[in-house]
Amino acid sequence: AHEGILRRQSARESAARTYARALPIVPVRARGLTVEGADGRRYLDCLSGAGTLTLGHNHPVVLEAIRKVLDSGAPLHVLDLATPVKDAFTTELFRTLPSGLAERARVQFCGPAGTDAVEAALKLVRAATGRTGILAFTGAYHGMTAGALEVSGGATDVRVTRLPYPQDYRCPFGIGGDRGAELSARWTESLLDDDRSGVPQPAGMILEPVQGEGGVHPAPDAWMRRMRRITEARSIPLVVDEVQTGVGRTGRFWAVEHSGVVPDAMVLSKAIGGSMPLAVVVYRDELDVWRPGAHAGTFRGNQLAMAAGTATLAYVRENRLAERAATLGARILDHLRSLAAEFPCIGDVRGRGLMLGVELVDPEAVPGQTPPASSTAVPRGTGPRPAAPALAAAVQRECLRRGLIVELGGRDASVVRLLPPLTISDEQTNAVLDRLADAVAEVAR
Ligand code: PMP
Repeated sequence: AHEGILRRQSARESAARTYARALPIVPVRARGLTVEGADGRRYLDCLSGAGTLTLGHNHPVVLEAIRKVLDSGAPLHVLDLATPVKDAFTTELFRTLPSGLAERARVQFCGPAGTDAVEAALKLVRAATGRTGILAFTGAYHGMTAGALEVSGGATDVRVTRLPYPQDYRCPFGIGGDRGAELSARWTESLLDDDRSGVPQPAGMILEPVQGEGGVHPAPDAWMRRMRRITEARSIPLVVDEVQTGVGRTGRFWAVEHSGVVPDAMVLSKAIGGSMPLAVVVYRDELDVWRPGAHAGTFRGNQLAMAAGTATLAYVRENRLAERAATLGARILDHLRSLAAEFPCIGDVRGRGLMLGVELVDPEAVPGQTPPASSTAVPRGTGPRPAAPALAAAVQRECLRRGLIVELGGRDASVVRLLPPLTISDEQTNAVLDRLADAVAEVAR
């Protein structure tokens, strides 16, 4: 069955498939961290539905919540009508929101994907300010629909002003964390305040507290606060995209809590639906300029997703899984640092909570002597040695051979990413780290 399914799907399905190319598996059963293939092989899944499965696969509380809705005879499709299931979700969501926003928040159900909520947020700040320009960052990832693409790294929409994220100064200048953050902030201020820059007063700024797809780059807390001050002083709404960082992933329930920044709007998806499609924007009530029908969508009321989401949010809150992510993440990062010390092909290890990245670089290159890998104006941000996407792909392959599923990320796809569920046990963590270390050792031989 395994080979037949793989063959038929690759013959009939579009070339747009990405995960399927790197992961030739046919998952048929899953529980927690473990996925079982049609060939009977078992894998530890540190991709977790692209960071969605905060409680792992098929967590009992999630299954129970879905079953309850199914058994109750409730309508599964309700457009944007009020229902008891939606009421419970909204109540639980508001209970978790960062203080400063919780007291005056409105939620807009979008759907069903993260990119839909990004579209809504961009449209909202444009409608609320009457302006069009958006400030966005290099290396950003906000989705694949037109508006979200415009604000993602590498896009060239004229209405978007591209700002350097702190990590952009790592290469070729070798300037790290705090200094990069300072330069990024100054660049932003001078663009906004210097008439000669030609940047009109923007409608909003959108940023990720940790760039995930961009290669796992946590923004320094001081930089987050600086961006908040810069936007606040100029009445520019700040939209924080917590699609990937939310629901405990980075060690706080929402990643903005690390810095204490209160955004004007937060874009949420992935984990909030407890493995089902769900996306919302939460924003300050003053921003709620919508008139009915101004932003619509058929799938804004997925009852199963809301029920699964309520169960997930409550479970993470009640079991303090964000704290667990923080302590376990710190331990994993320590371990990855010793791995980096052992293997010169690991250029950097980074992360926050259980959002972790291992950057593969060319082990032969002399640090600081390498010209930038491309001649674009903005350095590629791969650190002092050039990125090694082929090595990263080899590590991913070797991990898979050892029964470990990992994701690749970064602008050069040179970063091996770990996004395990927050419920991963200590023993499972050890198994993941052992397999990863073996895979790196194999590739480095
Ligand atoms: N924003 C961020 C920060 C993301 O990581 C992603 C998905 N990786 C999105 C938006 C888009 O979400 P979706 O794929 O559900 O459209």
